[in-house]
Amino acid sequence: MPEETTFKGGCHCGAVRFEITTDLGTVMNCNCSHCAMRGVLWNFAPETRFALTQGEDALQDYQFNKKVIHHLFCRTCGVESFARGTMPDGTPTVAVNVRCLDGIDLESLTLTPIDGRSK
Ligand SMILES: [Zn+2]
Repeated sequence: MPEETTFKGGCHCGAVRFEITTDLGTVMNCNCSHCAMRGVLWNFAPETRFALTQGEDALQDYQFNKKVIHHLFCRTCGVESFARGTMPDGTPTVAVNVRCLDGIDLESLTLTPIDGRSK
């Protein structure tokens, strides 16, 4: 099992920065209409493991479909580095875009396909 690690990450221009403590054992590659266009790779963690260190003001919210997830992208560079939502049990959750983590080696990850398209 991959160990829990604290990662730093953020958007392309640097306006949005965060830290997240998580393990990257499950990285989801979603085929829904929105993710497929952008190639986002998701890792989910409880919101208590996440800290937005800068950029709350830089975020623009985008919602679609059932509008349960807040897709937060940077107003300046347009990159969605994380999203906020809730698990079915009500736990506040964040999904970070693994591509936006500093120094991440994407080749080392095992991707888990999820079928968001048919949901
Ligand atoms: Zn940005």
